[in-house]
Amino acid sequence: MKVFLIGSNGQVGKHIIKFLQESDKHELTAMVRSEEQARQLQASGVKSVVANLEGSVDELVEAMTGSEAVIFTAGSGGHTGPDKTLLVDLDGAVKSMEAAEKAGVNRYIMVSAYKAYDRESWKDSPIKPYMVAKHYADRILVSSKLNYTILGPGLLLNDPGTGKIAIGEDIQKTSIPREDVARTVVAALDEEKTYRKTLEIMTGDKTVEDALKSIK
Ligand code: NAP
Repeated sequence: MKVFLIGSNGQVGKHIIKFLQESDKHELTAMVRSEEQARQLQASGVKSVVANLEGSVDELVEAMTGSEAVIFTAGSGGHTGPDKTLLVDLDGAVKSMEAAEKAGVNRYIMVSAYKAYDRESWKDSPIKPYMVAKHYADRILVSSKLNYTILGPGLLLNDPGTGKIAIGEDIQKTSIPREDVARTVVAALDEEKTYRKTLEIMTGDKTVEDALKSIK
């Protein structure tokens, strides 16, 4: 599968690149927002393209044309204000969905946040504006024609991955290593059980592959 990765210079994004490079099933185009980042990726054998989620939809269409799947793991981060939350986490995400539809890319995987769909679960959260952005981006994705998978991880950790996750009702923990999120994203690309589903993920006791296969 030809995969277009948005957020390639991010912490989850870098793990996704590693797993995609290890797989012989996928061919990657990594989107970054600076020429320097693109040069570094190209030097390590990764095809890259420079584009910005604050740019136009057409810029994104041009960058992703020819791809078969989009992965969105970009984010404005905790050090920017609510303006960037709107511009990147909400509008940037939605522009990438519009671009995918225009470019004829049908498969779309969103790295969202735990229970972003459930307002009650984050009504008193200190990161409520971020959750609102994720909530509406996810709602627009669900109502699109794209074959989506929305993954909702809890607190992201930089610990090494365990390779084991829990999904939905099996969840007992509140966090998950970024490496395991990346492993789940890559495994979900062609796993039909994940198509048009919103899935909460945390550290758990099933291998990523078994956890995805056990989805009802
Ligand atoms: P990260 O390390 O902050 O990476 C985010 C990436 O987004 C960065 O590479 C950044 O580019 C890129 N980006 C920001 N603005 C952009 C723009 N305008 N155009 C293009 N790219 C842009 O994030 P992470 O820790 O890997 O998180 C991955 C995802 O998980 C995000 O969607 C985040 O919202 C979500 N999430 C996080 C948590 C958590 O606990 N932190 C929990 C649940 C979900 P630069 O490298 O150029 O800055």
